[in-house]
Amino acid sequence: MAILKKTFQLTKDQKDILRREFLKASQDKDFAKLINDLAIDSEVAMKYTSSLQRVVEEKRNSDNCNSLAECINETKGFRYSVKKEGDKLQFFLEACPYYTAEEYKENVKLFDLPRSLKNADLKDVYKTDKNRLAALKAINDFIKNYDNNPKGIFLSGSFGAGKTYLIAALFNEMAKKDVESVIVHTPELMRSLKDSFGSDYKERFYELKTTPLLLLDDIGAELVTQWSRDEVLSPILQYRMDQKLPTFFSSNFNFKDLEEHFKLNSSSLEKVNARRIVERIKEQSEFIELVSINLRG
Ligand code: ADP
Ligand code: MG
Repeated sequence: MAILKKTFQLTKDQKDILRREFLKASQDKDFAKLINDLAIDSEVAMKYTSSLQRVVEEKRNSDNCNSLAECINETKGFRYSVKKEGDKLQFFLEACPYYTAEEYKENVKLFDLPRSLKNADLKDVYKTDKNRLAALKAINDFIKNYDNNPKGIFLSGSFGAGKTYLIAALFNEMAKKDVESVIVHTPELMRSLKDSFGSDYKERFYELKTTPLLLLDDIGAELVTQWSRDEVLSPILQYRMDQKLPTFFSSNFNFKDLEEHFKLNSSSLEKVNARRIVERIKEQSEFIELVSINLRG
């Protein structure tokens, strides 16, 4: 308001300067078109010449842009815009389509996995492969039932069958609905948690417990210690089960193999401990076998 008042009190000389600048800017046909589209009185518009020029400039940048990475506007992913409200002009930042199209990807966090998984798309999953149908059905059911606290999926299958890709594609789909998720490579997790004991350990651990969707990728390939099983995995699973947060697993193993994997020795106590953790996994996931040739080139 203060600015407007000031403008109204401009001297004749100052007004002449504003008018000259406005007329000069109007030689740009995009600028002239904008003034025309806004149907605003030039006496009003000339007070905003430089802001209106920025609108024109940033729209031009946007129109010639092909990706978020290329964006040269002042605020990356946005363009400065204007609309008329009453007889006033309102300036605002408008998200560009590339920003809108890619922003959702930030909802999926990858711990020690290739960024390319962000592009995994359910639309690209080979639907002709009969072996993939059960997994695809489970995924679609999950999406449909998400509001009713569905279980996660335990995807078991050989190396390169496309397990990680499928769940990543599901998480990307959920990300578009603004549901956050974490995909963690379990063997690397156990290694890194040990290394970062006392530093970012707590933060990661907290995130794995509380993220709305979690994939424990390649479970069964990690080195099992009493600590990794009883102090890391078990509390994560327990917390997620209590909070009804769906957990997904991908593994080369089935439940029986996994139980063997979690036994530290052949004592009866270890049998119980290993069974307990597998029971916890069973309770919160639907077992699906993914039979496929190795898709890795
Ligand atoms: P797994 O986790 O079972 O070992 P991946 O999910 O890593 O297998 O898949 C193996 C390879 O095949 C990866 O390079 C992945 O990008 C590719 N891939 C898997 N499924 C598909 C798919 N439906 N469409 C395109 N590429 C796929
Ligand atoms: Mg995998």
